[in-house]
Amino acid sequence: MKNYYNKNFKANYNTVEIIDSNVKRLLAKNPSPFTFYGTGTYIIGHDDLAIIDPGPLIESHIFNLLKLLKSAKKVSLFITHTHADHSPAAKVIKENIDCTSYGYGPYKRKKFDTNFEEGHDLTFKPDIYLNDGELVNGDGWTIRAIHTPGHTSNHMCYGLEEQLILFTGDHIMGWSTTVIVPPDGNMTSYIESLKKVLNYKYKIFYPTHGGPITKPRQFVNALIAHRLMRQTQIINELSKNNLTIKEMVSKFYKTTDKRLWPAAEKSILANLLSLKDKGVVVDEDNKKVKWKVI
Ligand SMILES: [Zn+2]
Repeated sequence: MKNYYNKNFKANYNTVEIIDSNVKRLLAKNPSPFTFYGTGTYIIGHDDLAIIDPGPLIESHIFNLLKLLKSAKKVSLFITHTHADHSPAAKVIKENIDCTSYGYGPYKRKKFDTNFEEGHDLTFKPDIYLNDGELVNGDGWTIRAIHTPGHTSNHMCYGLEEQLILFTGDHIMGWSTTVIVPPDGNMTSYIESLKKVLNYKYKIFYPTHGGPITKPRQFVNALIAHRLMRQTQIINELSKNNLTIKEMVSKFYKTTDKRLWPAAEKSILANLLSLKDKGVVVDEDNKKVKWKVI
């Protein structure tokens, strides 16, 4: 998978970047091992604007965004999912201008949930709940909502139909794999949602974090192969020895930044739960317990 990632990205904070004929981007300054250089808020249209992920509660980012939005005739906010680096600015924008928010739905707090990655925005509730495949029309744009559960259960990708662009949120990123944190994150759904975007003919993907994916079909097929490879690797290792999740991470992620190991533990857990659903492995769902193949 390493050969497919593209880490070339120039972070231009406090600048409205032109991405495509009808698309601009504002980058929030919230870099981290999960967000790369920060949250990219996409702005589609001219007078009638569609915003993909207004972003985190960072004053300078919201200030820059509001400056753009205040001169628009109409504003629609599309939320890919309710992680704290994607949706919270929607609330402040709604307090300042008249606009409508769209999304799959609010985050439903799950038992045993952890405030992992960038944390959850538990307050966001869209004005309009979108269904899978639904279209929203604006002046000069048509947005298609595609429900892509896996990273979170309420994740949506948004297609800009006129230009065959897909805004992939955190579902598919060009610089890294996405983090799957159970119980809300689900590996079986994630792999299904990867296959789902292949049903569409989008020519380029713009993730929330990092640069575009210019060969999307090739990239998604490689991602699916990579996730399935990890499951095969887990089965092979567990066929030799029963292992804890920590032991698997130190075997499989030797060359990965150690700051990402806690996230890798969650991804391994997500894989194990997916394999458990298929009846391949058993556990006691406890960190200290060694997992085994059945
Ligand atoms: Zn996220």
